[in-house]
Amino acid sequence: MTKIQNVRGTYDLYGEAKRKAKKVIALASQTVEKYGFEEIETPIFEFTEVFARNLGDTSDVVTKEMYTFQDRGGESLTLRPEGTAGIVRSFISQGMQQNLPVKLYYTGPMFRYERPQKGRQRQFTQFGVEMLGVETPQADIEVISMAYHFLESLGLNDSVVVEINSLGDKESRDAYREKLVGYLKTHIDELSAESRERLEKNPLRVLDSKEDCDKFVVENAPLYSDNLNEASKNFFKQVLEGLDLLGIPYRVNDRLVRGLDYYSHTVFELITDKLGAQGTVLAGGRYDGLIEQMGGGNVPGIGWACGVERLSMLLDKDVDLPRPVAVIEVGEDVHDTSLQISDTLRRAGFRVEHPYSGNLKKRMIKANKANAYSAVILGSDELSAGNVTLKNLDTGEQRAVKLADLVKEI
Ligand code: ATP
Ligand code: MG
Repeated sequence: MTKIQNVRGTYDLYGEAKRKAKKVIALASQTVEKYGFEEIETPIFEFTEVFARNLGDTSDVVTKEMYTFQDRGGESLTLRPEGTAGIVRSFISQGMQQNLPVKLYYTGPMFRYERPQKGRQRQFTQFGVEMLGVETPQADIEVISMAYHFLESLGLNDSVVVEINSLGDKESRDAYREKLVGYLKTHIDELSAESRERLEKNPLRVLDSKEDCDKFVVENAPLYSDNLNEASKNFFKQVLEGLDLLGIPYRVNDRLVRGLDYYSHTVFELITDKLGAQGTVLAGGRYDGLIEQMGGGNVPGIGWACGVERLSMLLDKDVDLPRPVAVIEVGEDVHDTSLQISDTLRRAGFRVEHPYSGNLKKRMIKANKANAYSAVILGSDELSAGNVTLKNLDTGEQRAVKLADLVKEI
């Protein structure tokens, strides 16, 4: 029999790690809701071609990272490796084009068959946003500022920088591709086998290779920024001016490209130096051609996604939970009253910890462990006189209060 353990690259999320992940998602949702984004939940699996056709057939995700399987009906399905393709599929199949712009956010598990290491899992959680239907640089500015404000709300703005680049429109990218191929062909012997193959199918992907020999060649490759046409330059200029206007610090990195095929114009990453090689915590860009390519109308789009676990690892402090009130019974005969009092307090809005067993001392230890700020102590003699003892667990001070006044007194 196989051992009872989790699959390599997957984790059980509980305790402090779960609290932190929950906080990351809560702050992200709060931030993007201020910008009018609404939550969407799409299925965790889709027809394989939703990803295979649209992420690019030479991308790492499609060539080696997808969890693809055949279901009992013989359909080829894939556990989603990212969020955008499924949302665009939904945008098209639900007819959302009628009411543009569409602003959506999502969170949930993603699956990639990768080599597990710190910050790199086979099941991980992303939070992401997509803005569909806005072709002007205003969308880029708002979407990037939203990412920055979210990380600021997590207290990470000092350890994170926005890196940004422009890949230009289709005309610019076509011109660039030609130059790049010319350059790469003069270095073909130095490239990895994989990149030599990409050179034929999708040369832009070579720029994003993680192989050292490729990185070495790419270092001197022609730059996107030297090949943008006027319209693309102007678009990028407006994006940067908007970020300046909002006081969002950024660094133009003209070597920044993105791993998936669908990007155009603005691409960006929020990077920290605190996580070693897995330093990218949030990444995104504009994907003006994707919706049309997937069979929808000519609708532009832009979005980003962040790794919830990677962000959680950057939070040094545990999340403070609201402190409860402890209800402590002394003796068997106060059992029913204690249940009723706990119930009344919870209905009045208090968090109540109710240690289920032990003598007075043991129950008080449990109350302190639960970080209760106050204890309601129930003894049968006092109760028959209509009183309980209310103890402040921070100061140790205690007094008798009328049962009827308890909610008011706490
Ligand atoms: P990388 O270059 O690190 O492989 P990527 O380009 O594949 O990243 P995206 O597809 O842009 O990543 O995903 C957005 C974010 O999701 C990343 O910046 C990262 O924070 C997180 N992420 C991606 N893959 C993983 C993974 N395997 N485990 C944990 N987090 C991940
Ligand atoms: Mg990757």
